[in-house]
Amino acid sequence: ERQLLLELKGKEDVTLDGKHIKLYANIGNISDVAAVMKNDAEGIGLFRSEFLYLEKDHFPTEEEQFQAYKTVAEMMAGKKVIIRTLDIGADKQAEYFHLEHEENPAMGYRAIRICLTQPEIFKTQLRALFRASAFGNIAIMYPMIISIEEIHKIKEIVEEVKSELREQGVQFSEVEQGIMIETPAAAVMSDVLAEEVDFFSIGTNDLTQYTLAIDRQNAKLDSFYDAHHPAILRMIQTVIDNGHSKGCWVGICGELGADTELTETFLKMGIDELSVSPTFVLPVRKLIRTSKCSG
Ligand code: PEP
Ligand code: MG
Repeated sequence: ERQLLLELKGKEDVTLDGKHIKLYANIGNISDVAAVMKNDAEGIGLFRSEFLYLEKDHFPTEEEQFQAYKTVAEMMAGKKVIIRTLDIGADKQAEYFHLEHEENPAMGYRAIRICLTQPEIFKTQLRALFRASAFGNIAIMYPMIISIEEIHKIKEIVEEVKSELREQGVQFSEVEQGIMIETPAAAVMSDVLAEEVDFFSIGTNDLTQYTLAIDRQNAKLDSFYDAHHPAILRMIQTVIDNGHSKGCWVGICGELGADTELTETFLKMGIDELSVSPTFVLPVRKLIRTSKCSG
């Protein structure tokens, strides 16, 4: 690891045939930013904002969230920080949400579904995110999307938040907005969804779970869980092509993005971004720099 660090720190993420790849890192807490910097990632491709909600016994206030997002944006000093809006529910529970027990929580009331049915929770987070955007290079990403109608509803709420901030004279920047592609519906509809957003980030953890109908948390099914299943690879290619046809950049932020056996495959598929755990940044950089994306 030391060797990789000496060899590759400060080097660009460019393929042999000259394509620049955004090589970002995933984080789940502010304390992870140190590892992002140590491993020299170009940005943060997935900041799982759930921790803010899970570590508290009350809804985090706008101010608490604003401080957290601003801190990370400032620590990254102008580098991209893609913050995912609340993805609670399923395996991630906080008592004060009073979520009911569900038979199929992975397919239940979670993530954007909570945000769209309880818009006051969503608006608090969005206000904090837009306020923080004045202090760095923030982008926003929405989880568990299945339809264009959801994106339309999100946009309405975002417009409300922005016009309230404007009225109140609060500074914010224009931010890139994208969606996670982590349901088969989103992958299949990606040509349509691409018209509405700036980027796609493929969440292969959930996309694999829902496509193969295999619970990602059930160890008994490990022998059936084929992360390289051709259905997943085909979907990734489709999502990349559909995104590009409408001018979206496309990345992967699920675990598969860090699978160095597939780095060259992803590059040949046309991937623009890989967001990986901090410790995988340099191994993936090494492969990007010795691979071609064409031919
Ligand atoms: C995914 O589903 O691939 C993903 C990145 O999100 P999470 O692992 O947080 O569900
Ligand atoms: Mg997911």
